[in-house]
Amino acid sequence: MLGCLLILCRLHERKLTSDAALAGLPLVDGILTPSVFHRAARRAGLTSRVSDHQLSDINASLLPAVLLLNNNSACVVTSLNQEQNTARVIWPDLADAEVTVSLDTITQQYSGSLIYAQPEFHFDERASGGSFRARGHWFWSVIKQNRALYRDIIFAAVMINLLAVTMPLFVMNVYDRVVPNHATHTLWVLAAGVFVVLCADLGLRLMRGWFVDMGANRADIRLSAAIMEQILSMRLSERPASAGSFASNVQSFESIRSFIGSVTLVALVDLPFIFLFCAIIALINWLLVIPIIIGALAVLIYAVIAQRRMQRLSEKMMQASAMRNATLVECLSNLETIKVTGAASKMQGTWESTVLFLSKLTARMRLLASSVSNGAIWTQHVVAVSLIILGVYLIREGQLTQGGLIAAYLLSSRAMGPVGHAASLLSQYHHAVAAMNTLNRIMASPTERPEGRHRLNRPILRGEIEFRQVSFSYPNAEKQALNDISFKINAGEHVAILGRNGSGKSTVERLILGLYEPDAGTILIDGVDIRQLDPAELRRGMGYVPQDVSLFYGTLRDNLVMGISQVDDARIVHATNQSGLADFVDTHPSGFDMQVGERGELLSGGQRQSVAIARALIKESPILLLDEPTGSLDQRNEQQIKHSLQHSSHGRTLVLVTHRSALLSLVDRIIVVDNGQLVANGPKEEVLEALRQGKIGSAA
Ligand code: ATP
Ligand code: MG
Repeated sequence: MLGCLLILCRLHERKLTSDAALAGLPLVDGILTPSVFHRAARRAGLTSRVSDHQLSDINASLLPAVLLLNNNSACVVTSLNQEQNTARVIWPDLADAEVTVSLDTITQQYSGSLIYAQPEFHFDERASGGSFRARGHWFWSVIKQNRALYRDIIFAAVMINLLAVTMPLFVMNVYDRVVPNHATHTLWVLAAGVFVVLCADLGLRLMRGWFVDMGANRADIRLSAAIMEQILSMRLSERPASAGSFASNVQSFESIRSFIGSVTLVALVDLPFIFLFCAIIALINWLLVIPIIIGALAVLIYAVIAQRRMQRLSEKMMQASAMRNATLVECLSNLETIKVTGAASKMQGTWESTVLFLSKLTARMRLLASSVSNGAIWTQHVVAVSLIILGVYLIREGQLTQGGLIAAYLLSSRAMGPVGHAASLLSQYHHAVAAMNTLNRIMASPTERPEGRHRLNRPILRGEIEFRQVSFSYPNAEKQALNDISFKINAGEHVAILGRNGSGKSTVERLILGLYEPDAGTILIDGVDIRQLDPAELRRGMGYVPQDVSLFYGTLRDNLVMGISQVDDARIVHATNQSGLADFVDTHPSGFDMQVGERGELLSGGQRQSVAIARALIKESPILLLDEPTGSLDQRNEQQIKHSLQHSSHGRTLVLVTHRSALLSLVDRIIVVDNGQLVANGPKEEVLEALRQGKIGSAA
């Protein structure tokens, strides 16, 4: 599928690299499946759709298309010639060659589905003043895709409301015509008609409920995927300050979902039908409409007054629950530290005060919401009583029949029902709006793969790294982390970066990895500006051992091969031997299947570090970035790693950040940074000698 997608991109002259196409998509065994094909295609500006067609029914004007074949493979068909019974086909395995094959051969393999893909119209910046978003709003565009469903829901609601008139008319006729005349035949005919209508009503209601759920589920699946994709591709510089509160904001999506999924939302569709019911009541006697209008207005006015306060309350509630979640997550992830440092009472205090505040807000919100919904019920009853009082007087005057009064009573409760529903929807609505605002902000934050920016398809081959007057400060930081740094590391060169704590060594490596963009200056990899390369492709060319190693829940093997496709076991075993992990793995009863726990908590600090080194070595990438790789290793392990790095780093670029002098034998050149500035850069012996003599000062 990936091969086919790249062929389609080439045919439509769209640029897409395989790493950019796949990055962050849920692959099955590392393979792109038809169900996520459209998401990969969209990154190249292609809209695609899976269709089930016979080969003979294929719409030739929509070619080229991807044909899904039986044995889990696929090919791109560029043209069909029904008369000569041939097709022009490109097989992804056979590079770019276009071949003519007979339709019969393809029919034998064809699975019955194909994917049409067409380029989206591409607005350039002139058309929009630069602020145009080609893809539409993340939420409404998905809802719009379901518009056929919502059209049906509205249609069902209209029908249900029209049918609702039946019951009051039935009762009215029974009272006024059937009972006085003892017309039982008429009664049975009317009853049969009403029964049919009731059955239709039941069917419509079931259907409406089912459609509302279906719409909400469809939207939920797409939107949840879109939100997660956005989070994972968000730039690190946009990373939220608190994981817990961010998680709570993301979870607030639930309230949007329950709002669009609630059948009460349908009450909004019912609202205009008040006029229909009022019109029918007016036909019976226009005076009876007055209590209904007064009641409906009273409910709506109160709801509008209450909704201002509700809005403020829901925003505050969201902030408070974000804070509560932030405290919870921070506590859970730092339990050990909390116990040791005695921070428990402080955390407990923060937690309790947040919970207290939140519960006060919730209570106020509940009171407000219930005053609206109970007020609506009360008004509904008062309206009914007034209507009956008025009706009795009208009957006495001879302007109304008994049946008319009962019908008017039934219709009035139908008319007031949606008013009450709509009013009680208000609190849900405000939760949803508050959640929507937060999610809008998240969805609008810049990602690593902005729309309309096409990267070069250019894997890192040599491993040359150059910094040209690079300055960088972390978001919201007062101090610059790097200040006007320039250096060049040739392909295959081994360089150490030394410096005091907080001098900016790790920052240099993070910039090389493209995790942050420099504020000024350029970083070149293989002579190409790093911003031209797709982040996924860039990072695939780099093995990185971070200073703080964090693993993921799962087995050791999962962690070792994470993000690398197709690794054979020999490579894994070799890498574990090199990283000094072999002793531990070999003697463990589960071996590579051992569980490492969340964040790798079941392993020791040194073992985690060895896993990270092995992970970096398995990649066999042209660049190795090691940040304090032996910080928590014992001397024997350190020696072993030094020894194996001597072999495995041959021919690769090595950037080593370390405080251990033992590792310096791996490098030929040393760069010294201090306070974000470069203070020395030269051959190892010279720099070491200068350091020894104190010739290299600090930059402060
Ligand atoms: P060490 O030897 O302790 O690992 P380092 O040289 O690797 O130090 P860096 O991690 O590069 O230091 O940090 C450089 C500066 O940037 C420090 O002053 C630090 O406070 C700041 N800094 C580091 N990471 C962040 C971050 N995520 N957000 C804000 N500031 C940061
Ligand atoms: Mg560091």
